Parts: sequence; structure tokens; C-alpha cells
Amino acid sequence: MTSGLSGKRRGALTPVAMLLVAVAAFGVTYWVVSSVTGGNRNGSRATPVSSGSGVATGTAGVGATADAGASVDATPSVGATDAGNTTGNSSSNTGAAATATTGDSAGTDVAGTAPTNGLPLSGKVIVIDPGHQKTANTSTEPIGPGASEKKAKVAGGTRGVATGIPESKTVLEIGLQLRDALQAQGATVYMTRTKQNVDVWNSRRAQLANDKHADLFLRLHCDGAAGSKTHGISTLVPAKNTWTAPIVKSSAAAGKAIQAALIAATGAADRGVVKRSDLSGFNYCEVTSVLVELGFMTNAAEDRKLNSADYQQKLVAGLTQGCIDYLEH
Ligand SMILES: [Zn+2]
Repeated sequence: MTSGLSGKRRGALTPVAMLLVAVAAFGVTYWVVSSVTGGNRNGSRATPVSSGSGVATGTAGVGATADAGASVDATPSVGATDAGNTTGNSSSNTGAAATATTGDSAGTDVAGTAPTNGLPLSGKVIVIDPGHQKTANTSTEPIGPGASEKKAKVAGGTRGVATGIPESKTVLEIGLQLRDALQAQGATVYMTRTKQNVDVWNSRRAQLANDKHADLFLRLHCDGAAGSKTHGISTLVPAKNTWTAPIVKSSAAAGKAIQAALIAATGAADRGVVKRSDLSGFNYCEVTSVLVELGFMTNAAEDRKLNSADYQQKLVAGLTQGCIDYLEH
């Protein structure tokens, strides 16, 4: 095909005309190509950024579809996580930022790329769900796909008796630190939300974990009790029911590892691993899922701890170790 075409051209022009045309064309082409290439280069340089953003957009797209007609905020929060990371990293190539980029781009573009190889959580995808949000969404959704029983889309959560801080804020703070810690161990991490003012239903949070084919859907909560003395940490896992059968075993193993690591890291009272069949976040979930109750905000001492930098670091260390203990095998 190519030689036939050039034969035709040769027949249409004299050698001298061809030479002139070729010289003129070369000059113009060189000029055009070099300016276009320059433009493309700029574009290419931006590509790593936009590939991250592209993924974030994809995420946003998923959220948008899922939340169509229900909540606009849910989408940007998910997308904003990735976009925020990517932008921050691309504009400032500092060491710390580079670590975060690695975590993000490794999983989103090509899972397990070189920079994260050898780290304990390389190639693993974890979706962190800081429970609740600034304002509860009291409209209801079925507690599982097709269920007649319904629950609030997002419950209000508890509040610190000593600090007055809402659970949603405490678990978001811890969740953001946990994201960084897990990324530093090589994991690809997605957040169901990165700010308070969102409206992301529990079923949508689980759907994000499904969409990302998460190795672990890790839900962060704090507990509340009628009495002020109750304190300690427990980890909730799915009980076997119509929806959860495929994830019961792996979730129990993850829950056991994470609960043990949390207790070791914090010295908190061990309230054990508890099976639950009534949680929408589990029932819509198709991947390994646990919900940690990090402590009681209705206990003044534990409330203060939960909202202190020192104790939050211990919780993050315990959660990270628990993820490694479970996911490394
Ligand atoms: Zn909660």
C-alpha cells in the first residue's frame, strides 16, 4: 500500500518539482510538527496528572450515577479525594507528596507498579469509610438489596460528652490519617468522603468498595452508650444472611486481625468481634468488610483520647498493622 502510493506521486511530478516540493514541505512540516509536538509535550507532561484526574472523574462518574437524583455532594467528595491528591502531588514533588501519588496512581492506572513493590500492602486496594457525615440523612433505604426493612440512609452518629465533638468529625480525622498511613505501606486507598459536608448514603459507600474491587472495606465509627462508664473497642463484621454469605468468612478473619492489632496498639478494653446482620453498609457490600468502633464518646476519658493526636496515632498504627496482618497473607 505505501509503495503503491509513493509510486503514484513519483509519476505525477518531475524530479526537480519533487525536490522543491519536498524542501518546502519539509520546512513547513518541521515548523508545524515542532510546534505541535511542543504542544503535545506539554499535554503529555500533564498526562500523569490528568490520568489521576481521569480516574477521579471515573470515580465521580460512578458516584454520579449511583447518586443520581439523590445527592450531588456524594460524588465530588469521592472524586475530590483523588483529584486533590493528584493535584497536590503533581504541583509539588516533595517526598511526602510523592508517596501519596504512588499509592494513588499505582492502583488507579496500573496496579502494583514499581514504586510500591516490596511494601506490605503493595497491590492492595482499601476503601476507608469514615462513618456518618455533618448532617444525617433520615430518609430511608432498604437494609439490603431488595429488603422490605428500611433504615436511615445515614444515621446521625454519637457525640463526645466531654469534647462535644461529633463522631463524624472524629472518624474523618482518623480516616484521613489512616489513608496516608496505608498509602505509605503501598496500598491504593479510596475514601467514601474527605469532608464533613456531604450526603453519601450507606449503600453508596458499600457500592464504592464494590466498584473498586476493594480487598478491604474499612468502616470507621465511634460508639455511644446510655451509661457513661462503658468504654473500649469492638469490631463489627457481617453475620451470615441473604446478602453477606460470600464475605462472612474473609470479613471475620479481617475483623479478628484488626481488633487484635487495635487492642495491642492502644491498650483499650477489648470488646471483641461482633457479628451484625442489620447494617446496610455490610449488606450492600460484595467485598471483605469490617466496621471498627474505636471507642465510646459517651465515656469522658475515652472521648478525650479519641480526639487527641497521640491516641489517634495509636489507633491509626493499630488499624494499619491490622490491615497488614490480614492482607499480607
Ligand atoms: Zn457511628
